[in-house]
Amino acid sequence: MLVVMQESASPEQIQRVMDRLIQDGFDVHRSTGAHHTVLGGVGGRADFDVAVFEVYEGVKEVHRIGSAYKLASRGFRPQGTVVRIGDVEIGGNHVVVMAGPCSVESRDQIERAADIVADGGARVIRGGAFKPRSSPYSFQGMGEEGLQLLRAAADRRGLLVISEVMDATQIPVMLPYADILQIGARNMQNYNLLRELGKIRKPVLLKRGLSATIEELLLSAEYILSGGNYDVMLCERGIRTFETYTRNTFDVSAIPVVKKLSHLPMIGDPSHGTGRRDQVPPMARAAVAAGADGLLMEVHHDPDHALSDGAQSLSGPQYMELMKQLRLIAAAVGRTI
Ligand code: PEP
Ligand code: MN
Repeated sequence: MLVVMQESASPEQIQRVMDRLIQDGFDVHRSTGAHHTVLGGVGGRADFDVAVFEVYEGVKEVHRIGSAYKLASRGFRPQGTVVRIGDVEIGGNHVVVMAGPCSVESRDQIERAADIVADGGARVIRGGAFKPRSSPYSFQGMGEEGLQLLRAAADRRGLLVISEVMDATQIPVMLPYADILQIGARNMQNYNLLRELGKIRKPVLLKRGLSATIEELLLSAEYILSGGNYDVMLCERGIRTFETYTRNTFDVSAIPVVKKLSHLPMIGDPSHGTGRRDQVPPMARAAVAAGADGLLMEVHHDPDHALSDGAQSLSGPQYMELMKQLRLIAAAVGRTI
C-alpha cells in the first residue's frame, strides 16, 4: 500500500502512520519528495482497511496497490530515481553511455577500449570478468585479474566501472573494483542473488531476462529494493521471439512502458538486443529517442577478433560516429548525451 501524506503533515503525524503500518506487519519504506512524503508499506495484512489509514491526521490519500511490486512502482517515487555515482547521475537529463568490450581480455585490450569509450563521451566502461556463456567451452572471463585491469583502465581515464556478477559469492570480489554491479539476463530470476544485492549499498543494473515480461522484470527489481538498496537501474537487452535474423528482438517499447510503470532509470542495450553490429546504431538511436536514461553498448578495438560477442561489438570509428548522431537525437528529445 502507499500512503501519501499531505504537504503540511507534521513529523509526528508521519510517525503515527508509520507506527500503525509497522503494527499491522508492514515493512515501511519512506520516500521524501519536494512536496509530499510517501510511505510504502510492504507485506503486512492483505485484508487491511484503506479507510483506517485515510482518517489518520496528515494523510492525503491511500492506495492499495494491485500489482505485487510496490517499491519499484512509479507511484512510490513519482519524481523518478536518479542514481548518483560521483559526479555521474543516471536518471537525470543526461543520457549516460556505458560502453566497452563484452569481456576483459587483456591489459592492452581494455586500455585501448578505455581510450575509445572515454574519447567518445561515455562515462562508464563495461567489461565482463565473470562471463555467462551459453557454452561451457567458450571463454569464461578473466575473473578478479580482469576486474583489476578494468579498474586501472577506468581510473586512468576517469571512468566508472560496470561489470557482471553471476553469483552471490562473487559480490565481495566485485565490490572493491566495480561502481555498478550488472545482473545478466540469465540471472534476472535468481532470487537468492537478488536478495543478496538488496543488502549491499552499491548501484545495480538489472537486465531483463530472455523471456521475461516487464512485470517480471519489475518484480525482480522489487527483490533488491525490498532489501533497502534503492539504487537499481533496469535494462532492456532484447527478448527471445520467433525471429532469427537478429540474435534477440530489441523491445524498444519496453523503454517508455517501464518509464511509465516505474521510477527506476531505464537503460537500453542494443548490442545484446540485436546481436549484429550493423543493427546496433539504429537501435541505439531508437532507444534514446524512446526515452532511455542510458545505453549499454559493446565496443572493441578489433571486434572481429574479440573473445566474446565480436559480431555485435562496434569498432572505435563506428562508436564515434554513433555518438555524434546520438547527440542530435538526444537534443531533439530535450536531453544531452
Ligand atoms: C553482457 O552484458 O555481456 C551479457 C552477458 O549480457 P546479457 O546478460 O544481457 O546476455
Ligand atoms: Mn556480451
